[in-house]
Amino acid sequence: MTSIGTLGSHCALQVLKGAKDEGFKTILVCEKKREKLYRRFSFIDTVILVESFKEILEEKCVKQLNENNAIIVPHGTLISQMTSQEIESIKVPIFGNKWILRWESDRAMKEKLMIESKLRIPKSVSDPKDIVGLTIAKRHGAAGGKGYFLTTNETDYKKKRDQLISQGLIKGDEDLYLQEYAFGVSAYLQYFYSPISNNLEFFGVDRRYESDIDGLGRIPSPQQLDINKIPSFNVIGNSPLVLRESLLDEVYSMGERFVEAAKKWIPPGGMTGPFCLEGVYDENGQFTTFEFSARIVAGTNLYVEGSPYSAFVYDEPMSMGRRIAREVKIAKESNQISKIAT
Ligand code: AMP
Repeated sequence: MTSIGTLGSHCALQVLKGAKDEGFKTILVCEKKREKLYRRFSFIDTVILVESFKEILEEKCVKQLNENNAIIVPHGTLISQMTSQEIESIKVPIFGNKWILRWESDRAMKEKLMIESKLRIPKSVSDPKDIVGLTIAKRHGAAGGKGYFLTTNETDYKKKRDQLISQGLIKGDEDLYLQEYAFGVSAYLQYFYSPISNNLEFFGVDRRYESDIDGLGRIPSPQQLDINKIPSFNVIGNSPLVLRESLLDEVYSMGERFVEAAKKWIPPGGMTGPFCLEGVYDENGQFTTFEFSARIVAGTNLYVEGSPYSAFVYDEPMSMGRRIAREVKIAKESNQISKIAT
């Protein structure tokens, strides 16, 4: 019997609940410190306790997962805690195309794929001397927005950079990536692409609540000027959004262009399974994409009972976690596992 497994964090509850709803056995690789939390949920059949998630690379854990015919669903915690090389070396099948995860983690590769997808993207700034206008400094890798800052000129950039160095968050310029700040309403567009039906499904939209930046509006500007604090963009939670219906056509086009470009550049199969295009809508309803995630995002946790968009496609509650499990089921029944796992 095939089982579905994931790491205990990020969207594990949604993924395993969805797997259980589709009739799979469920496995959680769980850090000991989180055991009490996850034991509360009866849809988790097996818990593999570890000191650190890196143990998923070790023989003991691999053996247990393979004995259960597990397919691992990758999520943000896997990306942030392991290098691309480590992820690629996991000896358990990974749902989707694990080779695309490297394109998510590497800024240059990421930019290339977004350009190939003909997405509108913010300009990157290669030298702090060239900063003009509002610019965001971001750390490499999946830092989750921690230690990001806004700046408008080189002098201010250096001051904030040095503050982060003294806090031990970065070592120097090489740890920062500068990008033009995109104005507008942020939106994180959630998709699922099935390589079996060759169809792109739009699943939902969320917004992120990021600390401290989203709390700044509660502080009057004179007091803001008095505080010597660099507001960070650390994600705390997500809230739902529905889009004007007139924006939907372009939402699908962007997703399809991304899938097409990934097919060309990233064998086998390109972008399969869930992904997210992350950016902002300007006053003309034009979307600028500043990031993508090539796997399930935590914003899908909002729609455990289905979303305003999944309801148009499915006559049953369909979360992203359940959609993943459904794809595994279809692939298994039609002998096409190699299309949906690597
Ligand atoms: P990221 O790590 O790129 O997902 O960025 C974390 C957060 O920083 C995002 O959720 C946005 O709030 C913000 N952000 C990143 N890049 C930009 C940008 N180019 N323009 C505006 N906001 C951005």
